[in-house]
This record gives sequence, C-alpha cells and structure tokens, in this order.
Amino acid sequence: MGRNKKYGGYKAYQYLEPGRDYREFKLRDAIVKDWWEPVPLSKAEEERFEEVMGRSVVMDLHAHPDISPLDPNQNRDFDREGRNVLAYEALAMSGLDCVFDNMMDGSSFINTKNGWDWMSTVHDLGMRLCDIGHQDFLVHCRRAEDIEQAHRRGKLAWVAVLESASCIENEVDRLDVLYGLGVRSIGVNYSESNMLGSGLKEHLDGGLTEFGYDALVRMNKLGLLVDVSHTSDRTAAEVIQLSRDPIIISHAGARALTPTTRMFPDDVIQALGERGGVMAIEAAPNLTATEKHPLHSVEGYMEHVEYCINLIGIDHVGCGPDTNYGDHVGLYLTNLENSSRLGLGHYARPGKGGENKYLGIDMNVKQLKTLRYVRGMENPSECLQNVCRWMIKHGYSDQEIAKVIGGNGLKLVKKVW
Ligand SMILES: [Zn+2]
Repeated sequence: MGRNKKYGGYKAYQYLEPGRDYREFKLRDAIVKDWWEPVPLSKAEEERFEEVMGRSVVMDLHAHPDISPLDPNQNRDFDREGRNVLAYEALAMSGLDCVFDNMMDGSSFINTKNGWDWMSTVHDLGMRLCDIGHQDFLVHCRRAEDIEQAHRRGKLAWVAVLESASCIENEVDRLDVLYGLGVRSIGVNYSESNMLGSGLKEHLDGGLTEFGYDALVRMNKLGLLVDVSHTSDRTAAEVIQLSRDPIIISHAGARALTPTTRMFPDDVIQALGERGGVMAIEAAPNLTATEKHPLHSVEGYMEHVEYCINLIGIDHVGCGPDTNYGDHVGLYLTNLENSSRLGLGHYARPGKGGENKYLGIDMNVKQLKTLRYVRGMENPSECLQNVCRWMIKHGYSDQEIAKVIGGNGLKLVKKVW
C-alpha cells in the first residue's frame, strides 16, 4: 500500500488566509520534475520496482520535508516567521510510509539569531502539529505500530525529530516535555559542542559530558531514539557504548570514502552495528561525494550504502538523505557567502584552516556551484525510490532492498520506542 496514498489535496495552513493571517513568500514548486532523475530500469525491472515499493515499509530516517522560498536569500526571513511549509502533495507521491521530520533544525531562530533556543523549538513543533491537526493524510507517529498502520491505510507516519538537544540547556526534564509533545528522536548535538558533549567541528574532542550522560540515561528511560550524526567521534563512540538501547546515526557516511569530520571512521560504524544500531546515509550537497564519484549523485550515495553494508551487514544500514523541497545547494552557498551579512561571523583559527567552513566542514564553493543539485537524490520524493531502483539494478534481492529502504529503521524503533 506504500503506493496507494490517500491524500485529499490539503495544502499547509489552508485554514488561514495567506497575506492576511501570515506573511506570504514565493515558494519553490515542490512537485516540478526538473530534478527527478530516476535510475533507468528495464520494463521488467520497473514492474519489480513498483511491487517492492508497494510491499515494503519505506522510511526516510532523516528529512526536512518543507518547501523553501524560491529565492534562497529569503530563507532566513522565512524561517523567522516560524511557519515552515510541509510539502504534503509531494510527500504523497514520494512512496514514503514514514518520514523523520527534523523541522527547522539549526534554523530555529524565531526568537534568537543563532537558533536552538527552547521557545523557538517549542514554537516550531507546535506550529507543525497545528498544521498536521487540520488534515488527515499525515499521522503524528508516536509508536512503531503507527508506521505499519500508515503503510496499510495509505497514510504517512510523521515523526517529530530534533537534530540537537541543545534546547534543553541544563534541564534533563525538558526531555520529558519534548517526549510529551511527541518528539521521538533527538540528536546529542549539532556540529558545535553543547552541554551534552563535543560536536564534530571542535578542535578538541571531549566526548560525552557528565550532563550528557544524565541526558542519555533519561532518553533511554523515556524511549527516545538517540542520534549522534553531528557529534565528534569520541562522543559518538561513548554514546554507542553507554546507551542502554541501540542508537541511530541518521544522516552521515563513511570517512573511508569521504574524508571529512562529517563522516564517521570504521570503528565507530562497527561499534554502532555491533550494538544493534542503524547507520543511515546522508545525501545533502557534496557531503557523500566520493573520490570515485566526485560530482555528488545517487552513485556516490550508494557507494556509501554498500561500504557500510560490507562493514556491518545489511541489517544495520538505512537511508536518511537529509533533503528538502528547496534549493539545497543554493542554501549552502547563500549561507557561506553571506555569513557576515547575516551576522554569523566565523573566524578561522590560526593554523587550522577553514575559511569556507559550513556546518563544521570545509565546503568546496566551486564544486557546489557546478553541482547545482544532487543528481538522483535531490528531494525526499526521489531519494528512497532511487535507492530502491539502484538496488534492483545492482542485483539485490527484494528482501535485502526492503531492509535498507525501511525495514531496518522499523526494527530499530520497535526496540527503542
Ligand atoms: Zn544534520
């Protein structure tokens, strides 16, 4: 039933009057097919693709399924309005049964310039839930059964996720509040360190803090899925070892293929697999481009998927492409080029390089400009479909494909939630 979605045509905030009740922005067209580059298949393979997609529970383990302003320069003003726009129609065509929505992640700057504050996070979450409360295609997912039910009934299970726990500041109880508001997965930190532990962009790696350990114990007790995608290596390794439940790396890849701190070394990925966790692969612009596939595309992405399958087995690998319905490359370039205009000054530490650091890693601006978009992995509608198509083309069995496009994620949340 993954293909047979019961979407009735709802558009975000249609219960309000745009321009009168809220400031209107010109948004990108989320369903335009300019970027849709399906992995080519034969007629017989096409039929198999439809069958596998229909039968499997399909999960995007890390997404930002919003529609962004047409002009990436307006992203910041748009975000400050605190009214992001979910792409209901495009999601209905995506083949997804479940989407992990990271909402405004680092851009929760409704009340503050640099984001991550408590009030912005609660506002962001409440606004999303209000919109979802006015329609019946997306179901606010709180239990693993909600995902299976969405698959059976032609709905989409929507999971509330925060990329970082920074908004809890020094209050462990806020994790209970977030769980109560329906959040089911939280990242330990974003690329910068916080009260819980070191992030991937720090020059010293202090691992998980004492407070971070308290927060981890609470997340385990609550049944919150812990994510270490943006942590330092040591923080990730410590969380993997110390967590009672298996955890997720929802959007990263193998450093062996792409040598940046945004990716993880083999020993961390192996430990994650040994403890029952899931390694979901990232597709944001340039992040999982490889030496073999320097222009970022589904090929580089799948190189990471296959590398991790070989390293920890096919039961522990999933997909968290981290895409949105906007100009993702444009967003990176705008933020890189306008960081001083936006008051986001970054100073390169003497001797440490990093003039063009964005999200903690060096960005190749020239490469980004050539790239324009990630071929075959540009938005949540095409990502999981193309992973399925690519795996069909490369000799994987239906069962193996089902694991990678959602089965492994489902097994994990059944255990943790
Ligand atoms: Zn992220």
